[in-house]
Amino acid sequence: MSDEALIAEFLSLVEVEDFDRVYAVDISDGRYFGMPLAPLVEAEKRLRADKERSIAYFSMEYGLASSFYNTFRTKRPIDQQNKSSEHEIFSNFRLADYFFTLSLEGLVDLPIYSGGLGVLAGDTLKTMADYRLPCVGVGMLWNTGYFKQKFWFKYGQAPEKMHWDMHSYPGLIPLKNRVKVSLASGDLYLKLWKYYVYSCTLDHAIPLILLDANIPENNEEQRHLTDQLYRSESTSIQIVQRAILGMGGALGLAALGYRIETFHLNEGHAVFAFIEKARGLAKEEIQDLSRHFVYTCHTPVAAGHDRYSTYEVRRVLKPEDCALLEAFGKEPGRDTVSLTLVAMNTASAINSVAESHQRVMRMQFPVYKDRIQNVTNGVHSHTWISESFMLLLEKYGLASSGRRLEPAGLARVSEHRSDGQFRADLWQAHQRNKVALCGYFEKWKLDPDVFTVCWARRIAAYKRPSLILQDTASLIELAKRAGPLQVILAGKAHPKDNLGFTYINQMLDKIDSLAESYDYLRIIMLENYDISLARLLVSGVDVWLNNPLPPFEASGTSGMKAILNAVLQMSTLDGWVVEAEQSGIGRIFGYRFNEESVGTEQNLRLEEDSKALYRTLEELVRLYYATNRKGRVELSSEWIDMMVNCISTASRFNTCRMIEEYMQKMWKMPG
Ligand SMILES: *Cc1c(COP(=O)(O)O)cnc(C)c1O
Repeated sequence: MSDEALIAEFLSLVEVEDFDRVYAVDISDGRYFGMPLAPLVEAEKRLRADKERSIAYFSMEYGLASSFYNTFRTKRPIDQQNKSSEHEIFSNFRLADYFFTLSLEGLVDLPIYSGGLGVLAGDTLKTMADYRLPCVGVGMLWNTGYFKQKFWFKYGQAPEKMHWDMHSYPGLIPLKNRVKVSLASGDLYLKLWKYYVYSCTLDHAIPLILLDANIPENNEEQRHLTDQLYRSESTSIQIVQRAILGMGGALGLAALGYRIETFHLNEGHAVFAFIEKARGLAKEEIQDLSRHFVYTCHTPVAAGHDRYSTYEVRRVLKPEDCALLEAFGKEPGRDTVSLTLVAMNTASAINSVAESHQRVMRMQFPVYKDRIQNVTNGVHSHTWISESFMLLLEKYGLASSGRRLEPAGLARVSEHRSDGQFRADLWQAHQRNKVALCGYFEKWKLDPDVFTVCWARRIAAYKRPSLILQDTASLIELAKRAGPLQVILAGKAHPKDNLGFTYINQMLDKIDSLAESYDYLRIIMLENYDISLARLLVSGVDVWLNNPLPPFEASGTSGMKAILNAVLQMSTLDGWVVEAEQSGIGRIFGYRFNEESVGTEQNLRLEEDSKALYRTLEELVRLYYATNRKGRVELSSEWIDMMVNCISTASRFNTCRMIEEYMQKMWKMPG
């Protein structure tokens, strides 16, 4: 097909707004922002075809790692706000903090995510593309992202508004399509945007539809409804945001002519898609509708489950929709509707995201016990492997460049366990990443031959962000006895999470109090934890610290990114780690959950678990310095065995294995 015909066909399927005036320069010559256009036409056609069993994947957030995966090019200028990301640093070397910042050049990632749930959704879309599946993602175009984090000493975290420019973001296009959601307060109009997620070989793509309320058809108040992810100052805004995702999403799919077999809802956030489809149907028809809905639960923590009073729901939704919602989600003996219940009562398949989470979910929802299946999370290897490790795998014939990174190749790393040259190369690959990481922190004098541990994730109480700083005197003693330490910390607390603020405040205070110890204990806390920082950290440190209070971590994924880069785990026994307990990928410590009921995350066990943490840390620090003797490496060390185990274990904790399980258990697709 000629380039002109290809573009004409694309435009007949995708009605791009402002095409001639704005987007024509980037969608031309058979290319879409520098990527091949033909796979997009094919994907669009398949989603409209009768015989395909297409899947619509709904998520409130998407972390697409566009800064280093599928980089689109544009011939138009990119707004400065989309480019640089500056991170201030709070360390126990305050002089450096005053004069320098960490700046990461390049495109910022689409700011439509807050943490692990979003990154998982992004990794899932990429894997759907790798498997050439007929799928479409549905999400929200957050006009001001999540938020920008600023540290304020003696206060904690000051959330600032994030600004970005959607019109010059490469690869993102507005559509002419509008949909109308009818609410008790009146009609709400939504504009559809599209972004495409390519496979790693660029031969297939998954469209991602993003909903946007910021259009002139809406009143001023309505236009702000898609401003900020997890905005929470009013319950009615929360409910409307969920209605936008679910109802707007279902209407958007129909407006585009997509024929959807399976609606995959992540968290209760998206259950309004069911309400949209069920409205006006007879009882048997509604039952039949359930065959098309599946639901994934991502957290055992109460705060992660949406629950609204029937009074609030009635203020937002039309009576008919309220009736449906209450029919499926009213909590017995309470005046509330739980979106989790709606999801479980309407879905034909339910899953947890790790085996330990499945056990917890069955305790929390005994009525649904037999219907709760498990699909353990994974990470998209192609996104999260560092370049030096990709080269290492290629050198040993375990992967080939430009092709999909296969789990089988990762598993075969263990065949090279006793090969001295491989062990030396493995260490060198790690050291290259660590030197690069230390390079970013040159002004803070980080040393690539000093033991480095990192804790970086969302700041939430059950994740126990400050556990390693619980008893700073012990930490100092440890460093003096066993050898110097570098500790890197990062994470955002939800702007309304007061406990999260307190944690950050405490952490800043403790770091400040350690100024005298900088020679042997360097602690660096990074502002604005995001995907680009995550990528640096999960490959550049020696040990990845994960210390949630069991059993509240559903899965966790950052450790999976780290093992792919042979970074050892130091973890409590929770989430995915339970399934890797016997794999020899590091050290496990702390409280073990084996109760009959789950309880709440009230007792954080900080005292006893911090003691266990210091004991385990000391063991690892000693092993590290027995392995790395000032740059001379002891190749027979158990440390390097564990690095080998990390990579071979990554053959299980990736999205290839995960997507195959979803195809079989949840989407019932022929393998
Ligand atoms: C992977 C990732 C997470 C998830 O980390 P957990 O281990 O699940 O806590 C959060 N934020 C970012 C930016 C990530 O890349």
